[in-house]
Amino acid sequence: MVDGLAEKKELEIYIHIPFCVRKCAYCDFLSAPADKETRGRYVEALKQEIRESRKLGETYEVSTVFVGGGTPSLLEGRQLAEILRELRDDFSVREQAEITVECNPGTLDGDKLKSFRDLGVNRLSLGLQSAQNEELRLLGRIHTWEEFLESFRLTREAGFSNVNVDLMFGLPGQTQKSWRDTLNRVLDLEPEHISAYSLILEEGTPFFRQYGERAEDSHEKSGQETMAGVSEKKGAPREPFPGLPDEDTERQMYEDARERLEAAGFVRYEISNFAKPGRECRHNLGYWRREEYKGFGIGAASLLGGCRFRNQEKLGPYLQGQFAVTDWEELTPADDLSETMFLGLRTRQGVRLTREMRRIYQKELERYQRQGFLLEEKGFLRLTDRGIDVSNWILADFLIEEQMFDI
Ligand code: SF4
Repeated sequence: MVDGLAEKKELEIYIHIPFCVRKCAYCDFLSAPADKETRGRYVEALKQEIRESRKLGETYEVSTVFVGGGTPSLLEGRQLAEILRELRDDFSVREQAEITVECNPGTLDGDKLKSFRDLGVNRLSLGLQSAQNEELRLLGRIHTWEEFLESFRLTREAGFSNVNVDLMFGLPGQTQKSWRDTLNRVLDLEPEHISAYSLILEEGTPFFRQYGERAEDSHEKSGQETMAGVSEKKGAPREPFPGLPDEDTERQMYEDARERLEAAGFVRYEISNFAKPGRECRHNLGYWRREEYKGFGIGAASLLGGCRFRNQEKLGPYLQGQFAVTDWEELTPADDLSETMFLGLRTRQGVRLTREMRRIYQKELERYQRQGFLLEEKGFLRLTDRGIDVSNWILADFLIEEQMFDI
């Protein structure tokens, strides 16, 4: 630190691009197709929003930038350039900052990738989901495996040496054999990072409706008992939907991923994220460690100055320069502690236990360690492999109320 100058705090930046070629059948993210003019106006609004937040740049410097969506690679190279230039004009972005752009196969070309590189983008995240064309078709993805291969080749050709591939398991029609084949094909490409999430049936998505209707169709045709009514509930169990792997198979798929990826030199540094050593996504690690972040674009979330809030989600007002925030919440000590446990336990490193944590979570710590779900090592608490299997259930137990501080 230079005498008289306070060191700036770290800030992560998330920029939301809510546009996609078309909506995937399972997706409930804030994204939709939009015409060229709307995309152009959104870029202008984004720049304005960033500019209006420039005061933050006096206190913070940017350690990571994540341009997510949606499909940010749908933007023209020049549009992304304008956004990142605006960010650099208003904030000091560290020289070593990790700058990630989410991309979908079918929206990339060599020139676009080269312009990303020239802008300092040093990490790409490619949405593949499956290497099986039939599974991709059912999910409503816009690309085939072959188109993904071409996009991956282009990223390497453009000089990107830090590439994530997103995968999903528990898909309709997916078998253990097809999942293993997907893993093998992706491993052959040697990406630096792989995310593997299980499919979640989100209420209100076309996918949810599609499979509910199919279940009813097959009921009419076969006369078999179906449980289509269950499909109306959020987080409905998998069994009612024909073609969806059962829970045991899904768990086995996760195990297959862990075994294969670890054998190939990947480290599971978070429940669903695997990286070659040193290639962990710094931006996402920041979320799990509760570092401060500022989101730009509709629906983007922020954690800043002890408060959580989100930008409003409506595109119309946003395009007119109305950057209202919603869900403003000043975090209490109980929120801080709950989130530290809830998020930190997702990571391989786990959470450094403080005296206060030991006091407040005494019962949970004793019970889950005795049952072999949690392990304490060198002052850090983490989930065991068995604990990861039931992580949702365990993590929920670490949410506490304010009054527990008085115990
Ligand atoms: S590409 Fe991603 S954000 Fe867009 S619709 Fe598909 S899953 Fe959703």
